[in-house]
Amino acid sequence: MSKVLVIGAGGVGSVAVHKMAMNSDIFSEIVLASRTKSKCDAIAESVKQRTGVTVETHQIDADDVAATTALLNAVKPKLVVNLALPYQDLSIMDACLAAGVDYMDTANYEPKDVAKFEYRWQWDYQERFKEAGLMALLGSGFDPGVTSVFAMWLKKHKLKTIRTLDILDCNGGDHGQAFATNFNPEINIREVTAPARHWENGEFVETPAMGVKQSFDFEAVGPKNMYMMYHEELESLARFIPEMERARFWMTFGDEYIKHLTVLQNVGMTRIDPVTYNGVEIIPLQFLKAVLPEPASLGPTTKGKTNIGDIATGEALDGSGEKTFYIKNICDHEDAYEETGNQAVSYTTGVPAMIGAAMVLTGAWKGDGVFNMEQFDPDPFMDMLNKHGLPWTVEELPAPLPF
Ligand code: NDP
Repeated sequence: MSKVLVIGAGGVGSVAVHKMAMNSDIFSEIVLASRTKSKCDAIAESVKQRTGVTVETHQIDADDVAATTALLNAVKPKLVVNLALPYQDLSIMDACLAAGVDYMDTANYEPKDVAKFEYRWQWDYQERFKEAGLMALLGSGFDPGVTSVFAMWLKKHKLKTIRTLDILDCNGGDHGQAFATNFNPEINIREVTAPARHWENGEFVETPAMGVKQSFDFEAVGPKNMYMMYHEELESLARFIPEMERARFWMTFGDEYIKHLTVLQNVGMTRIDPVTYNGVEIIPLQFLKAVLPEPASLGPTTKGKTNIGDIATGEALDGSGEKTFYIKNICDHEDAYEETGNQAVSYTTGVPAMIGAAMVLTGAWKGDGVFNMEQFDPDPFMDMLNKHGLPWTVEELPAPLPF
């Protein structure tokens, strides 16, 4: 029986709060706060209708540490689940330290003025959380999140060592728009326009953004082009699976998406430095976000499936030589929408956020300090994925990936 405070009323926040309400044995009281209170109220209304559970709502600017600390002192939650934007990670961690509350998020901190994803800023909080006897769990979404738990499950049950790891993220959904991103457009475009980086022989190797492409036949979706890019879990995986020779992250993009993104980049609309327009400073990428469809609005029209998983090659636990395993989840956009009113990209992030929060609140995962997903027993998390809407399968592949 525990009280949780969720910060952020976007698509991911909406799914997480719906799923928490469906598990009221763990989440006995749910409070939702965000920059725009009307969005919290709309989610609370939907939760009430779907589950009968009442969600308390508040307005908060989570960039303001003092205001956030005051909210935590007033609400007195056992855990804060940060589902606002990566920019708010450090201010919310500061507020948690000030109020003595555990912390969890789904994306690592990024400064607003540089598109740079690194755990360093949050890992630097290790001593402060440890000394305060508090726990911070970082990156409990799908990727990062489930992809790391998948890798650790393979290491526990199938492979003694992981030599190569490839994370394959396919969104086979069609939203019927010429161009839209399926989660926060600003964060999404910063991610895909950054140079690609993969782990190889003890260091990160950088290549131009979208410069490496492969075709892959995804179950339940079909053949898709996928592009190698940097993704933050590569950093924690490289740290916690030190024997890995190579780790790569791939994401599928359709030709239309690439075409639009290339034009937007070429004309300067993805820039994150300020430009002066009519005497006012604007950031082109933030302006672009304002004119693109809100990801949450894509729910009713999105059809198709997501397919996200890990392919790992290494020495088998049973001593039978080198083996390759593929572990993945397939999620249907329309089913996700029917259950929580949000499409599958929000669903595949919000469900693991609820599960990560459950791990902390039930004590299945516990410790003082700052933790990544790789540091805990994957089994209870994997059990909850099966029970709460993201079932997974594992199969042995006849050979490692040919590329
Ligand atoms: P949205 O943009 O839909 O929602 C973000 C929410 O945070 C909005 O409600 C926004 O308020 C609120 N917010 C923004 N700034 C502040 C602030 N200063 N104070 C309080 N609230 C604020 O994003 P998503 O729901 O798609 O994503 C949420 C998080 O999940 C992001 O960090 C994203 O990077 C992460 N994510 C992680 C994934 C994973 O697999 N690990 C995958 C997808 C997303 P307002 O409504 O006023 O704008």
